[in-house]
Amino acid sequence: MNQPTRAVVFDFGGVLITSISNQLSEIAVTHGVDTSVMHELLLGPRASGPDHPWHRAERGEIATAEIQGLLRPWADGLGVTLHGDEMARLLAPGGYTVIDTMSDRIRRLRADGYLTGLLTNTFAEFQPTMQRDIDFSLFDVVVESFAVGARKPERLIYEVTREMLGVDHRQIVYLDDFDQNLDEPIALGWTTILVDDQDEALRELDRLLAR
Ligand SMILES: [Mg+2]
Repeated sequence: MNQPTRAVVFDFGGVLITSISNQLSEIAVTHGVDTSVMHELLLGPRASGPDHPWHRAERGEIATAEIQGLLRPWADGLGVTLHGDEMARLLAPGGYTVIDTMSDRIRRLRADGYLTGLLTNTFAEFQPTMQRDIDFSLFDVVVESFAVGARKPERLIYEVTREMLGVDHRQIVYLDDFDQNLDEPIALGWTTILVDDQDEALRELDRLLAR
């Protein structure tokens, strides 16, 4: 049975800021491969695993600076020869813009009495940048993968988010731009919005909350 929404949770990359896929595409062009191949090489496979260095850094197990040096086996597996600057290009400052309409909507959600959350796979070293780009006080709950030691789509990080919000799984709406991050929360009972276009996603949120 549907329960009224009490909390709206937001992913960061691709939801509150523009997607990293723009940078991925440019790097893929350099190597003459599809963006999906470069995504898998640099950000790891869709399923979360113990070994890919990006996943490990997002869980806080290694430093971001260590990722590039550990990519070789993954590059070999995909038949790509690394140049050595891929991570520097991917994480270069200024590669994205903040989407102000999202921040405005979060402020309105709070004014309307909803709890708000940030749920992001991210590196410890990136926290100062994220806090510069987005006002953390917009959120009742901030869940960062490196601090939890688990990353989306691992079930634990969604359970931690629900616990911190203090609501039922079925009272949460969640916005994320990666479909592989949505299966687990759907199984838990969350309502999800797959974000492609941010304006369309906000219209979908309005429709959900008006039910
Ligand atoms: Mg994202």
